[in-house]
Amino acid sequence: MSGLFSHSSDVVCCHFRIETGRYVGEAPEQRLCKLCNTASVEDEMHFVLKCPLYQDKRLCYLSEILTSDEFMNMRDCDKFVNLVKYHPRRLA
Ligand SMILES: [Zn+2]
Repeated sequence: MSGLFSHSSDVVCCHFRIETGRYVGEAPEQRLCKLCNTASVEDEMHFVLKCPLYQDKRLCYLSEILTSDEFMNMRDCDKFVNLVKYHPRRLA
């Protein structure tokens, strides 16, 4: 089975700028996503829940989860934890 991350050849799970920026001394607020123009820090949560570049893929793999009433009422950090904890195969 494939998931959101499996078809994202330009994004590798552990290569988000929030992590790689640390290696070159960038301040956390400077580690912005280069794939979209939202001036958002590129971290796992941005990729999984927010980056507009991946909206189509997100809907393909996660639509029934993302549109549930329970999920929509969660805070973003809880959404991310929920996906990783209960739906890891949808992400991998
Ligand atoms: Zn982005």
